[in-house]
Amino acid sequence: MNINRRNFLGAGAVAAASTLVGGKASAGSTVAATKRRRFVGSCPGVINTIGRRPGPTRIMVIGAHPDDADIICGCFSLKLIEKGYKVKFVSITDGRMGHQRLTPDETARTRRAETLEAAKRFGLDGYDIYGAPDCGLIPTYEWRCRVAAEIRKYEPDYIITHRTCDYHADHRATGTLVMDAGYLLGVPHWVPEAPAQRRRPVIFYMSDAFTVPKEMRADVLIDAGPYLDRWCEGLDAQVSQFYDWLPWDMGREDEVRALGDRKDIPRRNAYLKKYWSGRKRRDAVRYADAWREQYPGKPVPEFVEAYEVSEYGRAPNDEDFRILIGE
Ligand SMILES: [Zn+2]
Repeated sequence: MNINRRNFLGAGAVAAASTLVGGKASAGSTVAATKRRRFVGSCPGVINTIGRRPGPTRIMVIGAHPDDADIICGCFSLKLIEKGYKVKFVSITDGRMGHQRLTPDETARTRRAETLEAAKRFGLDGYDIYGAPDCGLIPTYEWRCRVAAEIRKYEPDYIITHRTCDYHADHRATGTLVMDAGYLLGVPHWVPEAPAQRRRPVIFYMSDAFTVPKEMRADVLIDAGPYLDRWCEGLDAQVSQFYDWLPWDMGREDEVRALGDRKDIPRRNAYLKKYWSGRKRRDAVRYADAWREQYPGKPVPEFVEAYEVSEYGRAPNDEDFRILIGE
């Protein structure tokens, strides 16, 4: 695997366990047991000199469509919510093109209602849809301002979004918008209606399979296995997508018919896992070496969610990794 080491401090940049949480790593904690790269800031002004605001840790998962956050980041989100953090899902577009029979207006309405149900099932702090045209999102200046204002209002400690080389034009535009907002979040006279964020968030990229211009690097790996059933429960909220549009788009309508009653939970979950956990199974294989490096002695799980640190946000430090993956 090609690893881009430009950002790393020190060759290999593997920190000794005792230095990982400010020299106070507790024996037996996950973080203490991991080996992790150290990151330095690339943008000026995004270094870690400003302390955290009080209150619960907040995470914003910013996807292009009203199911991206659920599918790609659902297990990590459940883990973070279990830790007592607040997680908000965002869809920048209204998802109106995501159906083969309903009209775009009907689809947009249906999907909005389904995300509200998904928010309940995941235990989210909200599922916002900004309403950009599905399949037509352009990273304009207006959208940059809107996205930045929304981020500032929520004041997240962490953001997760798409990379700018993912398969869908809306995903790439979303990644660009977040990347373009990154440094500007802390500039007070820009978009003054939403107060600047003094401590900028760490930005992570969610997983995709693209290799050009470079394959994703797995800086954070999560064992998704323990969360898969609850993740399926969350996906099931979006009936128009997982039992209608997506099977039609993929030519798998017969599978849905064969599924019968989706209230048969074990059967339903088996179906959802079969078609939607592939990315997590693939990343477990693709990042097996990274897993062994980060969690020495811990067997590689069957399902993994992988995240890459973006250079456009604050560089994460030991405390951030303790907050996100410590136990
Ligand atoms: Zn999408």
